[in-house]
Amino acid sequence: MKFRRIRHRLLAALAAVLLLGFIAMAYFYNQAAEISIHNEYRRTLHRLTDSVIMSVETIMSESHAEIMPEFTKRLKTLPGVIDFRIARIDGTEAFLDNRTINAVNDRLGETAFKPRARESHPAPVFLPGDAEIARLFEGQESVYRIEASPAQGNLMQLFDTIPGGKKCERCHGADQKIRGVVKITSSMAALERDMMSARLQSLLILIVSLTLTMAATGYMLGRLVAEPIEAVTQAMSNISSGDFESAVISRGKGEISEMAESFNAMRTYLRDTHLGMQLEKGKLSTLIQGTQEAVVVTDAAEKVVLVNAAACELLGKSEEQIRAEGIVNLLDCPDLLRGMLDATDARSDPTLIEYRDRWLFGAASSIRDATGNFIGSAALFRDVTQEQSLLRELQRLATTDALTDVYNRRHLDATLKTELDRAKQSGLPLSVIMLDVDHFKRFNDTYGHDQGDRVLKMTGHVMKAALREYDVPCRYGGEEFSIVLPATGAAGALAVAERLRCDVESMRVDDLQVTISLGIACYPDIAAAAPEALILAADGALYRSKDGGRNRSTIATPAATEAT
Ligand code: GH3
Ligand code: MG
Ligand code: MG
Repeated sequence: MKFRRIRHRLLAALAAVLLLGFIAMAYFYNQAAEISIHNEYRRTLHRLTDSVIMSVETIMSESHAEIMPEFTKRLKTLPGVIDFRIARIDGTEAFLDNRTINAVNDRLGETAFKPRARESHPAPVFLPGDAEIARLFEGQESVYRIEASPAQGNLMQLFDTIPGGKKCERCHGADQKIRGVVKITSSMAALERDMMSARLQSLLILIVSLTLTMAATGYMLGRLVAEPIEAVTQAMSNISSGDFESAVISRGKGEISEMAESFNAMRTYLRDTHLGMQLEKGKLSTLIQGTQEAVVVTDAAEKVVLVNAAACELLGKSEEQIRAEGIVNLLDCPDLLRGMLDATDARSDPTLIEYRDRWLFGAASSIRDATGNFIGSAALFRDVTQEQSLLRELQRLATTDALTDVYNRRHLDATLKTELDRAKQSGLPLSVIMLDVDHFKRFNDTYGHDQGDRVLKMTGHVMKAALREYDVPCRYGGEEFSIVLPATGAAGALAVAERLRCDVESMRVDDLQVTISLGIACYPDIAAAAPEALILAADGALYRSKDGGRNRSTIATPAATEAT
């Protein structure tokens, strides 16, 4: 049997202890009672023997041995007495034969006593070699024996001595201090009845004491220990189900009341903490749900436990779909998410991701508790499509010339440096064309600055149309342009320059026509260490075109370059 409640456990423990204690008590009490009953029984028997012995002495001293058989017969009728015998010291029963009468008559030399007409010789009262009887003769008080009789139950036998004396000497001589032995056999039924009643009494006392002690102690324990503990247990159970309001009543002083008070203090602390946490959770929840950032959180088993509204909107998926697909499928690319989650143990750097025609910026990382245990993962994404297009526009603006829509000088510098480095590494040629509108000052002066602007704009357009995708046309400054031609040697560059020159020559802006002069420098023909050297060489070639009559292309040679 299992006792789950503390009240029952305490009672069971108490019952076990009390039961053992009371059983021990009842056992010793019963033992004492039995010994006392036994002793009382023996004393009664002993008193009876004493009075019998006195009677025997009186009868014998008055020389009335003939009435002894009748005397013994009467004694047997006493209540509780089963048998009564008087024996000689050799164990043979006295007063039943003529042995003693003959001996006395022989001693006295007369026929003082009349022999019995009928003698009998029953079994001896004790055997001659009986050690206990021998000790009785040596002075031991009495001998008690218990004998089981199938018909009469347990019997107690008492042996005691009949002392000799002056009165006996006349008939029996002076040689015997002990004249005989009295044996009384009594039934132990009364004794056993008394003992049984003593046992029943002990049992009754045991039951009553146990019941009363159990009831009293159980009540006290219940009231002083179990009830307060049960109250705390109940209050704990209430707290576990979210009810922080039930306080425990603390009674009196002592550990139990201290426990109740500590519990109440803990309850108040927990309630305040819980309320604070609820408040913070509410704020956090509002924040997470209200934020424009997509937030998806999982637990340690990678089960999605939080999806905010922005996540659904941003990813174009329902909350159920996100929960069903799991965090790694958020961006429809499990490898990407898994890589982000595995990339760093604590925090992955935000990444720009292209997702369904949008640009997302975000990170996915593991969450760990204070001791470093993995407790989940979180993914945060922000839609940066608009920022991204603005950034690209900004980048374009930062590298593009507003009037001519070709790259600006800053972009030329950056590109030329990169391309020269690449050419040096790859061994492929690199060419730069510098071009300048001829007599543009005069054009401006003649047709106005705005018309000049339209010409520059159209020139830029023609350049973009005439070049390959990876050629880089730039406005170098004023009416001067430059073009970077990767992987292009001098011959190729000259062909491009001539094509451009012709295209511009045939270009008409409001029926007006301009021409351009061009200079070409090619790496490695010009062993330019830096981009500026290549520009300078191309510029030198350009001015040779100008000097040569304009509307033409000139290739820079090392010798000519060195000369400038
Ligand atoms: P050359 O054939 O020797 O190059 O003669 P040029 O007149 O073109 O040379 P110069 O350097 O003397 O004049 C350049 C002129 O280009 C001066 C300026 O008015 C004009 N210019 C520079 N930038 C712009 C611009 O953005 N718009 C317009 N409309 N004109 C510009
Ligand atoms: Mg010019
Ligand atoms: Mg110029």
